[in-house]
Amino acid sequence: MKIAEFPEDLRPHLIPAPTGDMVYRCLECGAEFDITELLYTCPQCRGLFLLEDRAAARLAERPGAFWRRLFDYRRMLNLPALKGIFLYYELIAPVIPLDDIIYLGEGHTPQVAANEQLAAEVGAPFYFKNDGQNPSASFKDRGMAAALSYLNFLVRQPGAGRILAICASTGDTSASAALYAAYLGEKVASAVLLPHGKVTPQQLAQPLGSGAKVLEIPGVFDDCMKVVEALADNYQVALLNSKNPWRIRGQESYAYEIAQWFDYDLTKKAVVVPIGNAGNITAIMQGFLRLHDLNIIEQLPRILGVQSRHADPVFRYYAEADKSKRIFRPVAVQPSVAQAAMIGNPVSMPRVIRLAEEYTRRAGEQSVAVVQVTEQEIMDSMLLANRHGHIACTQGGESLAGLRAALQLKLLSRNEVPVLDATAHHLKFIGFQQMYFENSFPPEFEVTPKAEYQNRPQLLTPKTEAPEAKTADLAAQIAALLGLTPKTRFKR
Ligand SMILES: *Cc1c(COP(=O)(O)O)cnc(C)c1O
Ligand SMILES: [Zn+2]
Repeated sequence: MKIAEFPEDLRPHLIPAPTGDMVYRCLECGAEFDITELLYTCPQCRGLFLLEDRAAARLAERPGAFWRRLFDYRRMLNLPALKGIFLYYELIAPVIPLDDIIYLGEGHTPQVAANEQLAAEVGAPFYFKNDGQNPSASFKDRGMAAALSYLNFLVRQPGAGRILAICASTGDTSASAALYAAYLGEKVASAVLLPHGKVTPQQLAQPLGSGAKVLEIPGVFDDCMKVVEALADNYQVALLNSKNPWRIRGQESYAYEIAQWFDYDLTKKAVVVPIGNAGNITAIMQGFLRLHDLNIIEQLPRILGVQSRHADPVFRYYAEADKSKRIFRPVAVQPSVAQAAMIGNPVSMPRVIRLAEEYTRRAGEQSVAVVQVTEQEIMDSMLLANRHGHIACTQGGESLAGLRAALQLKLLSRNEVPVLDATAHHLKFIGFQQMYFENSFPPEFEVTPKAEYQNRPQLLTPKTEAPEAKTADLAAQIAALLGLTPKTRFKR
């Protein structure tokens, strides 16, 4: 829609100019640091950062209704910079000039309702919000759009020099980082560090295809993380892991979109999200809290985190009912089909603890919960969902398995509407489906295929090679196999 056709009072606000005053705020000691420095942990105490807009009070001066109306109208504006996560520009990173924003089609992913059969089987109606429909096929693009847009702004400053963007990854972070860095071209070089043999061929193909330098080391994700942290401490590199608070800001858009989808009425709603490094659940909680701060929403939805038994440090932490006795202990992970969430020492755990406290203070003790599921439940749930028209990956299956566990534990009532995070596209993790169908899971996964969910291609051999007879024979074979009835001709 053309600017002149928008309501007159909104026109001056549709295309925002930078107004924020953002700083890195240390979660532990409270110190603030300039965002033009390449910092990822506090130089004083090594605490994690959150990005804070020191001028955020200006946003609260306007009523919630103003923001709701602005964001709803802005959807009709055809300006690429504001088409993706930056539709919510004022909430995400209002210091980045629009010219520096990179838009590759991220965000505004569909929220797809479970059909009647699936809802009946699970025991409640629900939605999948398909973040696999982002450009690199996972939710990581939301955060990278913010982090790389900021980097794009930074490298244009005089004397910035050429920056190396680096990340450790369970696969999807590197795919996303490499894609956005490739779009930036010469200005930013990119390298990714992966645990050898622990990412899927699809996830490995993505950064290779984007032209990133792909480095592998023995071990698991947590080992890669230590190496990139050592690099970020000692060299001029931009760390694109979820320590990077710009990514968290970008990922908040997931919460904003859910709110907008429900016309900002989040009464009796819940969001179910798999937890790995805990960046996503951090962003989702922070996003809803920010909407609540600005009176854009009145109700906070319930937040339900899900972990596999094979990588469950966050579940274990919250399993201790007595808050004063909770102690966070990293765990040694076991192989998991939810490979992107197979993390024993989540980087964002301090953020989660803090935000969950604030969240439960506002929305009640039961408003944040973490459930645990088995590898078997993850696989079965993924296949069940996809047999009903979804494109859930194993982590999306983990969300559904978590919903089922929560219903059973009565952590969620049947009149609440859950939105399940389908964090990546099914095709990225296709090898696990293959293992299920072929019954070839190594024993440590503890997955036994159920015949009802298995599916295999069936090869038909023609009984003759004569071209026309061959076609007829194959058609007859298929008709017999599928029990087709012969075409009846109606007389007029
Ligand atoms: C990264 C990732 C996760 C885990 O998210 P965190 O922010 O690390 O908790 C889950 N699913 C997929 C597909 C991912 O790529
Ligand atoms: Zn500090």
